[in-house]
Order: sequence, then C-alpha cells, then structure tokens
Amino acid sequence: MIATEIADVFECPKCGHHQVEELLVNVTQTSQVLSMFEKQNRLHYGAVTAEDGEFAAFQCTNCGWKLPVVDSGSLCEYLQKTDRECKPGCYKEPANESSA
Ligand SMILES: [Zn+2]
Repeated sequence: MIATEIADVFECPKCGHHQVEELLVNVTQTSQVLSMFEKQNRLHYGAVTAEDGEFAAFQCTNCGWKLPVVDSGSLCEYLQKTDRECKPGCYKEPANESSA
C-alpha cells in the first residue's frame, strides 16, 4: 500500500498550513520523573506517554481550524475529495448567531 502524505493533500483554508493533528480529550498522560532541582523544588520529566482519550477533532496544527470530519475514516474521505467545498482561501469566520 502506498501512503499519501497529508501535507500533499491538505492545505488549511484559514492559514494555508499543511499539517493536521488529532485532538483527543480525557487523555491519561504519564511521564517518568527523572530528576529534581533541589534548590528550586522543581522536577525534570522524561518522555510523555498518553493513553485512552476520546476523539474530539482533526485540526490544523498551526491555527486550530477544525476539519469538517467526525473520525479517521471521514478524514480520509474528505482529503480524497477533489471538489470539497472548503478549499484554500474559502475560510470565513462563523457568523455570530447572537447578533441575529
Ligand atoms: Zn490553519
């Protein structure tokens, strides 16, 4: 199977960035405590690992623009659409409904 680089098919319509990140909520994060700075009462931590978590969004790594998808499958479908409605430059701030 040939993988397609996300950067080749995604361009954020808001800022033009080419990277997508998955946002998870309710994650259990752990990191080993490696050492301490005794005088400052501060700790130095090792690598972070994360477990669990619930999918919240796929978003632009730069500006946080959320892609209009609900899971990894729909992200793949969205990125394969050549006629997707939200193309680079199309972004508009959501209308402020409270003023209506
Ligand atoms: Zn962006």
